[in-house]
Amino acid sequence: MKEKMEKETKRKKIGLFGGTFNPIHLGHLRGAEEIRETFHLDEVIFIPSAIPPHKAMEEIIDAKHRLEMVRLAIASNPYFSISEIELSRPGKSYSIDTLRHFCGGSTDTFFFILGGDAFVEIETWKDFQNLFTLCHFIVMARPGFQKTPIASQLPGSLTPDFQYDLEKKVWVHLSGYHLYLKEISFLDISSTKVRELVERGESVKYLVPPETEGYLQKHGLYRKKG
Ligand code: ATP
Repeated sequence: MKEKMEKETKRKKIGLFGGTFNPIHLGHLRGAEEIRETFHLDEVIFIPSAIPPHKAMEEIIDAKHRLEMVRLAIASNPYFSISEIELSRPGKSYSIDTLRHFCGGSTDTFFFILGGDAFVEIETWKDFQNLFTLCHFIVMARPGFQKTPIASQLPGSLTPDFQYDLEKKVWVHLSGYHLYLKEISFLDISSTKVRELVERGESVKYLVPPETEGYLQKHGLYRKKG
């Protein structure tokens, strides 16, 4: 009994935050920090993808640069860490494989973190219905998003699998895992915007951490060729 209790108290709450991070920006970092605090997560693991299934590869710089920029950007946050699991796996980076890797057989509790823009496209993800049988999901929503539990908050084919728990204010999947729609102070920053500014030779100060800005300059990344 004592042993069981000790095991239970050691169970960690871990956020898994996947992305291309091409490059990482303050929208990613602030969102992850707010989610960590709100959900009392012990750790948030940033997981850069190798080959994202839904993005044009020609716009994506070498993984070693994206990885290093994430590493530098999170270095000052003791709760943030990085995983190279998708970079070391050959082929496309499917979240279902990553979630199976982390959640399968672990006693920790996992929360997959993603932005609202990614969530609305989740029906295009490999094996998407099974994603919700592996861990909790936290969708970072823009301020002012529809807060009342209406079915249209969920992509159509998912609605039969979820029920809204009015008391806990959360969608509950048939598996028992939760889907949280959490409003964050959404910063209107995207990697696309950062890349476009750099390409035009304009400043990205206050959109990315200083370490990222320095790294971009040092390695001449995303600059227009020729
Ligand atoms: P791109 O502009 O190249 O499409 P991105 O800025 O969306 O990139 P990703 O690395 O693709 O960055 O995003 C990783 C995750 O972070 C996704 O779930 C995405 O929805 C989320 N995200 C991206 N930007 C923000 C932001 N400003 N605030 C909160 N979440 C964000």
